[in-house]
Amino acid sequence: MHDIWNPWHGCVKYSEGCKNCYMYVLDKMRNQDGSHIYKTNDFAYPLSKNRDGTYKIQSGEKIRVCMTSDFCLEEADIWRDDVWS
Ligand code: SF4
Repeated sequence: MHDIWNPWHGCVKYSEGCKNCYMYVLDKMRNQDGSHIYKTNDFAYPLSKNRDGTYKIQSGEKIRVCMTSDFCLEEADIWRDDVWS
């Protein structure tokens, strides 16, 4: 496991399972609103490279994606096609 990649942040509480969402709790502690969904500065993180030109995330490495959102969020539809390029 390499790292965490959050291409967008914020989410919609869809079900009872979202009641105690840790992202909402952490955002509230920072006086932010977890329902505010936005594209992060890390959007292109998988394409970022080290000084020696190698990719920060190597082929085959596992990475946790969307730890502060839902990858399939409807509000993220406009970004999803670009997330792979
Ligand atoms: S991040 Fe997960 S738990 Fe939190 S609101 Fe979204 S789907 Fe629910």
